[in-house]
Amino acid sequence: GSQQKVEANILLLGAENVGKSALTVRFLTRRFIGEYGDIESIYNHSDKIDGREISFNIWDSLYPQDGDSAESVSEKQLQWADGIVIVYSICDRASFEVARRQVQLIRRAKKASASAPVVIVGNKRDLQHQRAVSGEEGRLLALSSDCGFFEISAAENYHGVLLVFHEVLELVREARALK
Ligand code: GDP
Ligand code: MG
Repeated sequence: GSQQKVEANILLLGAENVGKSALTVRFLTRRFIGEYGDIESIYNHSDKIDGREISFNIWDSLYPQDGDSAESVSEKQLQWADGIVIVYSICDRASFEVARRQVQLIRRAKKASASAPVVIVGNKRDLQHQRAVSGEEGRLLALSSDCGFFEISAAENYHGVLLVFHEVLELVREARALK
């Protein structure tokens, strides 16, 4: 029924240092701390959205350290995830290329129709003077790979973080309705 609890497994991907943990902690606590360390964890966060109880499981992943040999998206992660958020930093060109590659890996892993919905996030929007990736490039990547897109600042704007998780949840629910 309509009051049933909804559960959603959301996987955060992206290069290191782009703000995956900052985004996660902001969503869980509304706060920005500044230092997060290298902890990989799955967090649970319950929230009421449009009157419905939502249980988010958020996997804050670590980008593999051992360079070329490492697959940056594992089969285990893809099987777990109902929805995926890929984060890059607007001041880090290389992180945008990682995001592009990860979208491709996800879309190739399964038939496009079966793969999880993805939202691409350009983070650190507050650092405009260091911008290395235009908003247009981010939007184009999202458009060409059928993903949602936001530019946000986990440091300065809680609302943008909320929009990201609400959008990925919406896409997960749409995908489930089609099954
Ligand atoms: P992760 O490796 O992707 O999990 O990245 P972290 O969440 O650990 O963040 C890496 C660094 O970027 C930390 O020093 C954060 O304080 C900083 N950071 C994260 N988000 C933002 C943001 O929106 N703006 C700015 N200026 N710094 C950020
Ligand atoms: Mg982290």
